[in-house]
Amino acid sequence: MTTTEVENFPGFPDGITGPDLMDRMRRQAERWGAELFQEDVESIDVKSRPFTVQSSERKVKCHSVIFATGATAKRLGLPREDEFWSRGISACAICDGASPLFKGQVLAVVGGGDTATEEAIYLTKYARHVHLLVRRDQPKASKAMQDRVYNNPNITVHFNTETMDIVSNTKGQMSGILLRKADTGEESVLEAKGLFYGIGHSPNSQLLEGQVELDRSGYVLVEEGTAKTSVEGVFAAGDVQDHEWRQAVTAAGSGCVAALSVERYLVSKDLLIEFHQPPTEEIKKELTDRDVQAGFDITLTKHKGQYALRKLYHESPRLICVLYTAPTCGPCRTLKPILSKVIDEFDQNVHFVEIDIEEDPEIAEAAGIMGTPCVQFFKNKEMIRTVSGVKMKREYKEFIEENK
Ligand SMILES: Cc1cc2nc3c(=O)[nH]c(=O)nc-3n(C[C@H](O)[C@H](O)[C@H](O)COP(=O)(O)OP(=O)(O)OC[C@H]3O[C@@H](n4cnc5c(N)ncnc54)[C@H](O)[C@@H]3O)c2cc1C
Repeated sequence: MTTTEVENFPGFPDGITGPDLMDRMRRQAERWGAELFQEDVESIDVKSRPFTVQSSERKVKCHSVIFATGATAKRLGLPREDEFWSRGISACAICDGASPLFKGQVLAVVGGGDTATEEAIYLTKYARHVHLLVRRDQPKASKAMQDRVYNNPNITVHFNTETMDIVSNTKGQMSGILLRKADTGEESVLEAKGLFYGIGHSPNSQLLEGQVELDRSGYVLVEEGTAKTSVEGVFAAGDVQDHEWRQAVTAAGSGCVAALSVERYLVSKDLLIEFHQPPTEEIKKELTDRDVQAGFDITLTKHKGQYALRKLYHESPRLICVLYTAPTCGPCRTLKPILSKVIDEFDQNVHFVEIDIEEDPEIAEAAGIMGTPCVQFFKNKEMIRTVSGVKMKREYKEFIEENK
């Protein structure tokens, strides 16, 4: 879940951030014995029984499975989209809005629905001004969201406006957006240093293609009012099966329906086996920058903050892996445990430092960080690779293996 403030989840009268809500749910599930593996699922076979779930780390055989892979932000397909992806174009204001590249700049958001309006409002926290580019002559967003946009003096809404391409300056940096009026065809350039996509989502259902019935847009089809898919024992929950409501509480509700359905299904087939797990270990306290300054220890593998990074940059003979994060960035929370496990595997051959770009903006700016999460690898005082976003675990592993 990549959203910032969730104001409408029951039980949190003062609101809660998406990442905090996720952390709480995870801890609650673990307290009741759920075993969590944060790794990429590469294939699922629900054509033969028991089903097989193959991840980057393990193969799991199971009698039932709940599919809850969510939905991914859509792209516009602009001619220069690939060139400026993560160098000016972003699909996640919440993850990238605080990055030095965008702070204090004029930015634009494309889209006319709730996602785009929410992103525009969010970006006004950091940007000098935000332009909302709406292709139609009116927004699709809810009335409440429209009111919030119209009442915000830092947002200008452009109707009948098509986003055509990115415009760059002589240094090759993004400097504006080529726009076209949908009604007159007139073209113009809007000065902006960033373009955020808020144009909807595609369901992450590729792993089930050809095995379970999907609708025309790829959403998993479930029997109305249930979590049952077209294959007995396979259930779906959340955004991957819901193109209409797409809310945290509806996703959680459908997750509950799916979990209870699995239990009923296993009981009906006499396949239910109860097992209990020992209580999980208390999560180790992470080192803060202050701890590090008080007693920086180069023999430790994992560090935090700019002081540690500067020391390691000058003194470490190992490969240094730097993870740049932001407090409101949901994907950062996904990546952290994945990367942490990879680092554990190479313990004495690598140093790891986490940099919070809000706590240490200068170092993030010096490193040219344009969005989070972002991983940079350094060796012998040279930056040898930058990896933006969340990648498959094996990608980080292979790179460390080759360069340690
Ligand atoms: C900008 C924005 C603002 C929002 N604001 C709100 C709000 O205020 N209130 C609200 O109720 N809702 C809000 N939402 C909607 C809410 O975030 C979603 O409805 C909810 O997160 C859906 O939950 P989910 O579990 O179905 O999917 P997700 O939260 O997307 O989770 C799916 C998970 O599956 C993982 N995954 C996918 N493929 C694989 C694979 N192959 N292997 C392993 N893991 C995989 C993903 O990494 C992800 O962690 C907002 C959404 C956006 C984009």
